[in-house]
Amino acid sequence: MIDETELRHLRRCVELAAEALEEGDEPFGSVLVAADGTVLGEDHNRVASGDHTRHPEFELARWAAANMTPEERAAATVYTSGEHCPMCAAAHAWVGLGRIVYVSSSEQLSAWLAELGVPAPPVRTLPIHEIAPGVVVEGPVPALAEQVHDLHRRFHSSR
Ligand SMILES: [Zn+2]
Repeated sequence: MIDETELRHLRRCVELAAEALEEGDEPFGSVLVAADGTVLGEDHNRVASGDHTRHPEFELARWAAANMTPEERAAATVYTSGEHCPMCAAAHAWVGLGRIVYVSSSEQLSAWLAELGVPAPPVRTLPIHEIAPGVVVEGPVPALAEQVHDLHRRFHSSR
């Protein structure tokens, strides 16, 4: 059930994805929210440096492992503009984080990239539940997905 508060977090993810795009990075953004609604952290994609593991969900998982108790992690939610990739889904599950809510799915991203003629990435795009079957996942959110689609279109048309 995605309410107005959750939509606000998702809109912030889309803003962060737009910030990544402005900095020359692929447009992905994520927000980590505690059980009581406190925003604990946010980040966007930072792979333009050449390190392709610098995904926001991976950074937030590491931050959570270093700064939160197992109970706090299990009760937290990660909001994200695009469904976690296999690396980030694994990191999320290994550190025991809770629910994930994403705007656009990996399936949508694959279709968008194919439509833009972008070569397949070196890591397969798989749904989170294929990697981390115990994690509760919600998405896509059609009300915002077209904005994310547009950011990817802009990123790839600028290359
Ligand atoms: Zn990732």
